[in-house]
Amino acid sequence: MSDTDSTDTVFVLNAGSSSLKYQLVRPASGEVVAHGLVERIGESSAKVVLIRGDDTKEFVGEIADHRAGLAKALELSRVQDRDLTSEGITAVGHRVVHGGPKFYKPTVIDDDVIEAINELEDLAPLHNPVNVLGIEAIRELLPDVPSVAVFDTAFFHDLPEHAAAYAIDKELAEAHHIRRYGFHGTSHEYVSQQTAEFLGADPESLNQIVLHLGNGASASAIEGGRPVETSMGLTPLEGLVMGTRSGDIDPGVVMYLRRAAGMDVDEIDAVLNRQSGLKGLCGENDFRALTERVEAGDADATLAYNVYIHRLRKYVGAYMVTLGRTDAIVFTAGVGENAAKVRADAMAGLENFGIQLDAERNSARSHEARIISTDDSAVTVLVVPTNEELAIARQSVQALNDRP
Ligand code: ADP
Repeated sequence: MSDTDSTDTVFVLNAGSSSLKYQLVRPASGEVVAHGLVERIGESSAKVVLIRGDDTKEFVGEIADHRAGLAKALELSRVQDRDLTSEGITAVGHRVVHGGPKFYKPTVIDDDVIEAINELEDLAPLHNPVNVLGIEAIRELLPDVPSVAVFDTAFFHDLPEHAAAYAIDKELAEAHHIRRYGFHGTSHEYVSQQTAEFLGADPESLNQIVLHLGNGASASAIEGGRPVETSMGLTPLEGLVMGTRSGDIDPGVVMYLRRAAGMDVDEIDAVLNRQSGLKGLCGENDFRALTERVEAGDADATLAYNVYIHRLRKYVGAYMVTLGRTDAIVFTAGVGENAAKVRADAMAGLENFGIQLDAERNSARSHEARIISTDDSAVTVLVVPTNEELAIARQSVQALNDRP
């Protein structure tokens, strides 16, 4: 990070529809100065949390909107010895979900950029407008600090054409910018770079499959540092089974629901984005709670788990063939980093493919990057913690330094 000054401090903001997460981080060292969240925005029982070292401050009460939530977080910081803004914030880094065809690198935000992000609303109705709410709120509260948008789609911008294109009418696709964009790009990029560093390997020579398994889940195949496949598409709905999203589904189901169940497009959207995946199959989208039910022998939870693992294995197989030679398979995010059973089940019986997990290494608990395959496994299997906030902070400073 030669361009990152040790004094730089970045406020990283990830704004959702009724919640937001923030972190104040020093990009050079990775030190987290403070972090927190605002939940249930728009309700009278909203919660604002600020954590700084061992000290946690909380507010519960009415928070009308994103601006009020952020203002409250700054206010909470003010009652401590220093206030957050006194850390000399260099930049605000925003996670923006959809960059569409236009944005493929971290972009310093001005009014035109905000308008352009808003214009992508059709592509990401659940995400981009709320990302803009976060951008506008912090611009009002910290008017002198530049904001940078870091797009979740950016890393996959240069997917090979054959991986990015859907096999649909070319003109229709062009007219509506329909292609596979891919998401969680900041995480896939960061984790693949960390993996190369951890293995002491030249990123140019390393072929990896990265499995980002959180509430949302996605897989990518990365050849020499560049993605050649990823599981999410035009929207973050395609691919793996997720907490509440279906992942891959016959598009015919959409038409069938319209005709046979009389549902309109918003209802079908809600079904596939919010009432499907693990939640749809067994009513539970939190993986820890799901695992407890599986262990207790619950049939619905067991089916949900099995569908999840089956889909994951299908992608691993497909991506091994896409890559031709796979050097590393990397698990990351909440489930990937913590659920040893998921890793064991996803990699079970693949010895003929050069994959051999070490049961003891796999079940050891650690928050560090680590190898979980045996020493003679041809494919190295790893757990590498993701850190999207740090990646966003670093890219934000870089974008400001690169400004003409
Ligand atoms: P997000 O996509 O919201 O960033 P995370 O990456 O934090 O999600 O992942 C959240 C998921 O990780 C939840 O389903 C949670 O239950 C799961 N998870 C967290 N810790 C564990 C654990 N120890 N075992 C199994 N699942 C876990």
